Amino acid sequence: MSAPNAAGWRPSLGQAERAENTTLSGDYGLMLEEGLSFELGAADKCGVDIDYADRSPIEGLARFLRSEAPALPGLTEPEVVRHYTRLSRQNYAIDLGPFPLGSCTMKHNPRLNEKMARLPGFADVHPMQPQTTVQGALEVIEQLADWLMKLTGMASVAMSPKAGAHGELCGLLCIRAALDARGETRDVVLVPESAHGTNPATAAFAGFKVETIPATPAGRVDVEALRAKLAPNVAGVMITNPNTCGLFEPDMREIADAVHAAGGYVYCDGANFNAIVGKVRPGDLGVDAMHINLHKTFSTPHGGGGPGAGPVVLSEALAPFAPLPFVTRGADGSVRLVEEENAGEGHAQAFGRMVAFHGQMGMFTRALTYILSHGADGLRQVAEDAVLNANYVLRACEDLLPAPFAASGPCMHEALFSDAGLAEGFTTLDIAKGLIDEGFHPMTVYFPLVVKGAMLVEPTETESKAGLDRFITSLRSLAERAKAGDESLHSAPHFAPRRRLDETLAARKPVLVWQGDAAAAGTPSRSEAGGR
Ligand SMILES: *Cc1c(COP(=O)(O)O)cnc(C)c1O
Repeated sequence: MSAPNAAGWRPSLGQAERAENTTLSGDYGLMLEEGLSFELGAADKCGVDIDYADRSPIEGLARFLRSEAPALPGLTEPEVVRHYTRLSRQNYAIDLGPFPLGSCTMKHNPRLNEKMARLPGFADVHPMQPQTTVQGALEVIEQLADWLMKLTGMASVAMSPKAGAHGELCGLLCIRAALDARGETRDVVLVPESAHGTNPATAAFAGFKVETIPATPAGRVDVEALRAKLAPNVAGVMITNPNTCGLFEPDMREIADAVHAAGGYVYCDGANFNAIVGKVRPGDLGVDAMHINLHKTFSTPHGGGGPGAGPVVLSEALAPFAPLPFVTRGADGSVRLVEEENAGEGHAQAFGRMVAFHGQMGMFTRALTYILSHGADGLRQVAEDAVLNANYVLRACEDLLPAPFAASGPCMHEALFSDAGLAEGFTTLDIAKGLIDEGFHPMTVYFPLVVKGAMLVEPTETESKAGLDRFITSLRSLAERAKAGDESLHSAPHFAPRRRLDETLAARKPVLVWQGDAAAAGTPSRSEAGGR
């Protein structure tokens, strides 16, 4: 182990592994190491000078006085700023390079979106403000809702759900309310085996039983198997289109007709809408409900505490059951927020609310900015370029990495490879970790489950050809090394702030609370549970 660095923090175990390269400080060039805030600070230190009060400053509250000091690390402001800035530099971001995570649509977040979202009239609104003072904000919600309905060919939209998965729940609750209104208790939802994990989880959470529909060898929903499962207890199906194998489901209309004839509803997982926006309207395919991940198709940021907005478009059959509140435009052109159930105004049999207020204003503003700056023709080009880029990656790598469905034609917006054919003992994980050394965020790995060692690459339309070529060169070289049995790949990443982590242990036994000296004494610590 090397010496403690200037902050008094001792570099973690893994750095000692870089024996020849050890520096006195523990930092490497401009790659700065960083401990936990508790390792840097101390409970008896304080960043500001305050005189301790000799009695409770508020009479009558003395019984709430702390009996123990709070377990805070005690850092000064510059220490805190450096701590979080150093940590942020160890992370990867869409503003640093490509993020080829399949199914996630990690596209560039345009700065114009950010500029608009920061306008005080949008950024500073409070959900309890009188409606007359937020007419501009309501106008943004209404215009975005209008675009989403037109782009999808659907009758209505619930704007308040906070994410794709939350939108799935909203859609299934609409289906449940519609069944209740018909006096029917259907309790089964059919989900294809290639589905994203949120689909069966949402169906189960909403109280339905999940039955799986198999895939055909060509990676599509097996329509005959689906037909065989349709019965009076089937509430509906949840189908992703384009699906998670990166393929369009050409039988969607036939599937929807069969489900409707059997009295069920069609939920479409719209996470992959980026591949078809402006080209196909899900409403024309018989869809009853579909969530739209604004952070995927419409370029709002991922992360930062949650995606923020997953509006759900609804067919005429489900529109009356959509949740409150919603924005509506009156005959005089003014916009209004409807908070209470009202037979005359749509959402007449609203099932309730998804959230306390109206949805995520910041994301609505960004998404509408993106839509208006592209226009209808620009959005169509988004889909075309996203699909073109994915096919470029597919054809550039399929000679080295088997592409299970490539024989059946072009893919949609993501290229799917398998790790079959790598040398004995080499897997998708080795390729993914090798990509980190090459300076790329890995692709989606081991999903969808229907493909062995799946690698799902989604370049999105915002990568240039030069950028794609750089990625392809790295991916091809890693595939060649894994085919040749290059052992060094097994211990990649070699150049990242942390080496190969035990992700299973970190997920199963997360250590989320600083354990003081106990951690140093060898109980599960960050170095075992994931850190180096
Ligand atoms: C991203 C995604 C979801 C979930 O969306 P969130 O906004 O992350 O909740 C569901 N299905 C598919 C296919 C996805 O890619």
